[in-house]
Amino acid sequence: MTAVAVGRPTRPEVANEDGRRGAAPEAEGRGLVQDEPLIFERGGWEKTGVDLPEADLDASDLAGLTRTAPIGLPGLSEPETLRHYVRLSQKNHAIDLAMYPLGSCTMKHNPRLNEKMARLPGFADIHPLQPVSTVQGALALMDQLAHWLKTLTGMPAVALSPKAGAHGELCGLLAIRAALEARGDGRRTVLVPVSAHGTNPATAAIAGYQVVEIAQTADGRVDIGDLAAKLGPDVAAVMVTNPNTCGLFERDVLEIARLTHAAGAFFYCDGANFNAIVGRVRPGDLGVDAMHINLHKTFSTPHGGGGPGAGPVVLSEALAPFAPAPWVTSGPEGFRLIERNTGDAAQAFGRLSAFHGQMGMYVRALAYMLSHGADGLRQVAEDAVLAANYVKARLSGELTPAFPDGPCMHEALFDDAWLEDTGITTLDVAKALIDEGFHPMTMYFPLVVHGAMLIEPTETESKREIDRFCEALLRLAAAAKAGDVARFKGAPFKAPLRRLDETAAARKPRLKWTP
Ligand SMILES: *Cc1c(COP(=O)(O)O)cnc(C)c1O
Repeated sequence: MTAVAVGRPTRPEVANEDGRRGAAPEAEGRGLVQDEPLIFERGGWEKTGVDLPEADLDASDLAGLTRTAPIGLPGLSEPETLRHYVRLSQKNHAIDLAMYPLGSCTMKHNPRLNEKMARLPGFADIHPLQPVSTVQGALALMDQLAHWLKTLTGMPAVALSPKAGAHGELCGLLAIRAALEARGDGRRTVLVPVSAHGTNPATAAIAGYQVVEIAQTADGRVDIGDLAAKLGPDVAAVMVTNPNTCGLFERDVLEIARLTHAAGAFFYCDGANFNAIVGRVRPGDLGVDAMHINLHKTFSTPHGGGGPGAGPVVLSEALAPFAPAPWVTSGPEGFRLIERNTGDAAQAFGRLSAFHGQMGMYVRALAYMLSHGADGLRQVAEDAVLAANYVKARLSGELTPAFPDGPCMHEALFDDAWLEDTGITTLDVAKALIDEGFHPMTMYFPLVVHGAMLIEPTETESKREIDRFCEALLRLAAAAKAGDVARFKGAPFKAPLRRLDETAAARKPRLKWTP
């Protein structure tokens, strides 16, 4: 059938009598949230939303790779297609719908100004292989972003290209490995605290290191005695998160840096929680050698749902020569990119990604910085910490804070002691929170706290919204203590789907639709 070439649906042989292709039911009304089959199940073969003229293609260009079988696209009209995707979008919780209190993830509002800037054609419609003379503005923006990242962290160099925090960790450890190799040092061990984000030990392992855990004190900080005992001539780096994943500032951070350097190792700081200290503390002043910054957390570029991240890594003087290409430099002819490992980049450990990183994220992050200014960024940190302490104070009567003494930083951490003898678990509380209209908090992380519930309100939530969230949790606490187990065990009741077999979904994903 000639329609094949114009994207028309092409598989009438699998259609049902009513012209639909699969066996799934039509969307089933459930209030305003409708069940939605796959687009392949929904689509028929007798119609299409596009009507293109027959293409006059010269198939010879395809060197014999011309498609011979039907492509198998589902056929839907434009409104059917549109509604399919809008219905799917309604099943996603989003930061634009309500507070998203995931601890460690910093799910904060993405200012629309950032979005507007990122869509300017001069940033959005360029290609990484364009001649640099045609993308001077974009390079100037990268240069300015690099300047502010270095200024805010007090570090002399930054590698912009890593595409997420975890990628930044890899960049930092590869720079450390290159620096050690350059001095003929074959150290094999990386020390990581027990409360570390899983990416830290995973990164160290991928970079070829053996991971050794550092113990934690009863008040949630790195155990300095244990660190000192484990430092030695085989330790390449110590990876510490500050503020840490318990939401606490590592008050011995200067001593951690001193001990690390005295042992000839490098100090890697996981900077995912930089939003708690930006404008107030410069990691360079703390003795940090390398730190990634999650632009998608601290500087409000959108994330979640697998969207692009950006994890630039700031580097100390000692590591700067090993930073991966490319980087931006400027001279009399304007901005250009150092692309090859020669000259200034002779010691670069290589290249981390094909091009320069996530341009759209750079634009958003710089827009966020410039719209706040220096005083505004400091207030970001202050408000993030204030909001988390407010949550901690409001909930501590009913929930049990993991570290009750003293204030927290950007996130409030509770354990599950308050659920003792109720038969209800952290998972049940998280699911019941969905029925209250909120995305669950981070659960069971960090691993050092039993049944952990990690709540990060961020600086962008109003007091009213934080109150709504706290009241929802307090309602649940009252219900749990009153023995209303059913409200928890069956939750969520108001979501399109209830509890999924998440293990099976992760271990045996079904990624392909078969009719
Ligand atoms: C988010 C996070 C990471 C990893 O960052 P990604 O951008 O998700 O790769 C690492 N460490 C901590 C503490 C984090 O919160």
